[in-house]
Amino acid sequence: MVSKSKVCRKCRVFVSGKKCSTCGETDFSTTYAGIAVIMDPNKSEVAKKMDVSIPGKYALKVR
Ligand SMILES: [Zn+2]
Repeated sequence: MVSKSKVCRKCRVFVSGKKCSTCGETDFSTTYAGIAVIMDPNKSEVAKKMDVSIPGKYALKVR
């Protein structure tokens, strides 16, 4: 069984469980555009633009 990737609507991180491991939200979307993998939020311009402070895989846009 293939499950589609979900992203948290609030922080845009990719979620594999029932709850967002980053912010605790349970409101997810499967409609997103672009993927950014943030390894070091402090050194990443993308992370600053996205307001990300926790390393992980993020969607650039979530609908
Ligand atoms: Zn979240």
